[in-house]
Amino acid sequence: MRVACFSSKSYDEVSFKSLLPKFEHEFTFFEPKLDLHTIALAEGYDAICTFVNDYIDEKVLQKLSKMGIQQIVLRCAGYNQVDLKKAAELEIKICRVPAYSPEAVAEHALALLLTLSRKTHKAFNRVRDNNFSLEGLTGFNIHGKTAGVIGTGAIGKAFCKIMLGMGCKVLAYDLYVNEELKELGVQYLSIKDLLEQSEIVSLHCPLTEDTFHLINDNTIRMMKDHATLINTSRGALIDTEAVINALKNKKIGNLGIDVYEQEEDLFFQNRSEEILQNEQIARLMGFPNVLITGHQAFLTQEALSHIAETTLQNLDELAAGKELSNQVL
Ligand code: NAD
Repeated sequence: MRVACFSSKSYDEVSFKSLLPKFEHEFTFFEPKLDLHTIALAEGYDAICTFVNDYIDEKVLQKLSKMGIQQIVLRCAGYNQVDLKKAAELEIKICRVPAYSPEAVAEHALALLLTLSRKTHKAFNRVRDNNFSLEGLTGFNIHGKTAGVIGTGAIGKAFCKIMLGMGCKVLAYDLYVNEELKELGVQYLSIKDLLEQSEIVSLHCPLTEDTFHLINDNTIRMMKDHATLINTSRGALIDTEAVINALKNKKIGNLGIDVYEQEEDLFFQNRSEEILQNEQIARLMGFPNVLITGHQAFLTQEALSHIAETTLQNLDELAAGKELSNQVL
């Protein structure tokens, strides 16, 4: 198949090009994000390949359908950016990469947590400035803390195991209980009980209508004072304004985020020459106890290779009209 690949970065090209000789698909890598202005680039292709911030809404789907493009391969796990109802109506098939490396994301959540708990980001800058003072670098142990994990699918499960290994008591909230985790000692509770008891809260559920602003004024009130909140899932799980207020009044002790509610016009680009227009992220950056990374939790060699391989296999199945292993319905 001829595939137009949107939001392409150098690392996408490297991982796909290393596998393309084994498959019968041709890729053209386009740097722009998919939207109504860039969709014309897809003219003449059989399928498009997109990433997390390529919004595939009703208008984009209608345009694709008019162009005769009936196949979309997402090179990510989440699919909240797709209007699935419209896609089904237009009979556009959508496949994703359900679990490319849950450990990559879980380990990044741990990296955010450990950086915040031991202030290594501050130490790094201090030591390079010949400043070996330890004042203000007092951290806290992870061992012995209670960690609450919201969403215990592939990534949440990997994160639970890491936290158990760190010597934490692990609490979980999910719509479904994972028996393997229960046997390992993870305790499933209501979200209220989890928030009331956890010193560390990590979000690993998808963004849906039910989970939009899951962390809001009301749920923040349930949290333990000075708790650490980590989000590597989707930005809109958190009501950013509510969290800013909770940081200001010290209810939340630390915030580590790899995703941000308004990230789509901000992330994945070098904007170092621009004036930052987004007020909320500017405010977040002003807190010494907030660590932000730009949606990089997935970015390991292993995960990229797995994403490329599964995406190409998804295209094989689409091309052959086979039953689709990773269709999003
Ligand atoms: P998964 O489908 O394996 O697990 C999601 C879990 O959330 C499931 O167990 C599900 O039952 C649970 N869940 C669904 N609705 C819920 C609700 N209302 N309350 C509580 N739990 C609920 O998904 P995964 O592979 O573990 O990925 C989780 C999320 O991580 C994805 O949806 C995606 O948004 C995000 N993600 C981020 C990155 C990154 O680079 N930052 C990379 C991959 C995935």
